[in-house]
Parts: sequence; C-alpha cells; structure tokens
Amino acid sequence: MIKLVKGFKDILPEEAGLWQHVEMLVRELLEDFGFAELRIPILEQTELFARSIGTSTDIVEKEMYTFIDRSGESLTLRPEATASVVRAYIEHRLYAKNPVRKLYTIGPMFRRERPQKGRYRQFYQINAEVFGLHDPRADAELILLLMTFMGRLELSGIVLHINSLGCPACRPRFKDALKSFLTGRSEQLCSDCLRRRDKNPLRIFDCKVPACKETMQDAPSILEHLCNTCQSHFEIVKTSLDRFQMPYQVNPRLVRGLDYYTRTTFEVLAETLGAQDAVAGGGRYDGLVKALGGPDQPGIGFAIGIDRLMALLAGRAQDFEKRPHIFIAAIGEQAQNIAFQWVQDLRRQRVRAEMDFENRSLKSQMRRADKLGVTYALIVGDRELDDGAAVLRNMTTKEQEKVSLQNVVTLVANRIRAEQSIH
Ligand code: ATP
Ligand code: MG
Repeated sequence: MIKLVKGFKDILPEEAGLWQHVEMLVRELLEDFGFAELRIPILEQTELFARSIGTSTDIVEKEMYTFIDRSGESLTLRPEATASVVRAYIEHRLYAKNPVRKLYTIGPMFRRERPQKGRYRQFYQINAEVFGLHDPRADAELILLLMTFMGRLELSGIVLHINSLGCPACRPRFKDALKSFLTGRSEQLCSDCLRRRDKNPLRIFDCKVPACKETMQDAPSILEHLCNTCQSHFEIVKTSLDRFQMPYQVNPRLVRGLDYYTRTTFEVLAETLGAQDAVAGGGRYDGLVKALGGPDQPGIGFAIGIDRLMALLAGRAQDFEKRPHIFIAAIGEQAQNIAFQWVQDLRRQRVRAEMDFENRSLKSQMRRADKLGVTYALIVGDRELDDGAAVLRNMTTKEQEKVSLQNVVTLVANRIRAEQSIH
C-alpha cells in the first residue's frame, strides 16, 4: 500500500468541520478589521524566498522544497506567505490608489523540517499583512486582532510575548555587542550557532539546543540598544496594548526565524503544546517591500499555525461535524420513491437529509440512522402510505408523531431550522 509522505498528513472528515469553523471565524474577524483576501500561488521563484527570508536562515539554508522545473527555472514550494504577498503587492501595484492595504491569505506552507509533534512538512497558516502604516498603533491593532481571534476560540493558557528588534540604525550596534559577548564562548555553542555568530548572531537566540539557550541567558538585551525612534515606537505599542487591557510579556530574546523583521515582533505561545509551543508569530518588516523592488512602504503581519490551533482545540471537533439532520427509512418500492423526492426537497431547504437505496428492513435502516447520529428519523412504509401520514421519530427522546404526507417537507424543515436557532 502506498502511504502518506513523511511529515505530511490528511485532514479527515471528522476534523474538517472544526477547520471550516476556525477559518470562517477568522475570515469574519479579518474582514471586520478591514482586510481583504488575496489568494497566492503555492509555487514561486526560489529567488523570492532567498531574498526576503534571508540566505542564512534555517528555512532557506535547509528546509525549502526546491526543484528545477523542466524549463530550467528554480522553483520553491512556499515556506511562508509574506514573501508572496509582498510580491503581489508590488507586482499588481496594489499600493497605487492607496498604499495602505490590509491583506489576508489562508493555505498550506512547506518546510522540510524534522517531523515531530506539532511540526509537519506541510502545515497550514492564516496570514495577515498590513502595508503602508508606520504608526505603532497599527502594530498594537494587529496584535489585538490576533488576540481577539484567540479569545473567540476560547483558548486558555496562552501568552503573548513582544519584543523590538530595532532598525537598520540601531541593530548593527547590538549585533556588535552580541558578537563580542559570544567571542570566547565558542565551547558553549553548537556548530550551527558558531556559523551564525559571524553571519547572523541574532539567530542564536532562536536555537533550541539547551547549551546555546543557557549561554544566551546572559546575553546583552536588544532593548538596551534601541535608538530613540525605535524606543518610542515600542513604548507606544505597549501603552496601546495596556489601554485595551491586553496582557503581554516583554521578551528581549524573541527574534523570530526570518531576517526581514524590524522593530515590533511578537509571538503567541501555548504552554500545553509542549516543545512546539508557538501558535502564532509576526512582526514589522519596514524594509522588505523596497528590498523586493517595490515602493518604500512599511509592512507588518502575522502568521497563525492552524495545525497547532487544532491541537489546542482537540476534543471540540465533534461539535462541528456536519452530521445529517434526518434519515428517511423507507420500506417498499412506493415509499422509496416518495422518500427520494423528499430527500431532494429537504436538501433544497438546507436540511441535511439521507436515505438508503437498498430497501432493507426497518430494523436495519434504523440502525443506520443511529450510526449517522441524526436528530430525526422519518419512517414511511405501506401502512403509513395507507394512513396518509409518516412517522417522525425524535432519536434522542424516542418520541414519535404522525406527520401528514402532504406536509412532511415543510414541517421537517421548519422543525430543524427552529432547533438550530435555539442551539
Ligand atoms: P517554530 O519556532 O515553532 O519553528 P516558526 O517561528 O518557524 O515556529 P513562523 O515561521 O513564524 O514559525 O510561522 C508561524 C506559525 O506557523 C508558528 O507559530 C507555528 O504555529 C506554525 N508553524 C511553523 N512551522 C510549522 C511546522 N513545521 N509545522 C506546523 N506548524 C508550523
Ligand atoms: Mg521554525
């Protein structure tokens, strides 16, 4: 038997209802905050990711699914969405009428990481990007949007970490301070971090090797190296969050895995997830649009990992499974014929109706109704046809009532609609 590729997974019908619910909630919320959907392709030119994410990041160094197309072009399955959204913003001149654009996209990402709990090679993200706003209140607003979403999902045990990564004016000074701190600490770093020390020392904060983590405990703090502009930007982000009573922790070691971030960065962590505890992350990337050939417009965004959200929501999937509302047990040819019509009519009224075409015994059809978990079964056989009334059975209370054949569709549809509006 041919099986799934390692690190990939199927989302089964039992889980799909919850996925749809989460996506519907986030779409609603994003659109209330002024975002419009942008659908981007899964393949891009490799160059796009190398230039935006940064050549000395883990993603670009070792995690991308890259291949040479038959035309000789190097293509890559997108490992994240921001690069593509920025490309589209530039390519379609989405800034032309008004540089302020709020865009969101939902879909799969691909990274060839070591598969483990909460870490897949194809995973799903909800991505939001805001272009054209320098104001720190835009950062706060985006964080509030993210946390409002978490709140609507009624997630507990999640914390918000924020930091500032400075800007091209102040970060080099911090890099130097970090480099001199790391000089003479070679034995306390893993081989990857030794390489990072020269090229990209900030990335060492992100290393998961215990020895490196330990070393970095005493490292200098970026927050003490911010220039005045970055400092006041960060202050306003914090006071804006305070104003809306949004709790957060300032974490000077939060650097994030992509090179393009400037100033505000943030991450949402869930302690119950274990080692892979980041549910969402994001930050400001003021130089990226320009670096990719666009106008000098700032950007800020976040990505939510849907797979990890689902792990937090485990157990709630069955509430969102779309079971049929009613099963029609029809015995005999004539009854089957009528039931076939009812099923189509009910579905047109948005009632999820099912029947069997096998014309089996009443007992076995009722067993099937039970298995489907329907709220109602409608029974119709020769006797009911003679009577002019079918039997509607409430599967929970076991109560039965007669329903005139003429009124079946209207009555059942009204009944189910009424129940849905109660729940
Ligand atoms: P991590 O530190 O867990 O590797 P990251 O910093 O690489 O996360 P981002 O690139 O910021 O993650 O992506 C945002 C979110 O996407 C993460 O917070 C996480 O929920 C999710 N995510 C990232 N990589 C994976 C993966 N391989 N499998 C499942 N979810 C992932
Ligand atoms: Mg990662």
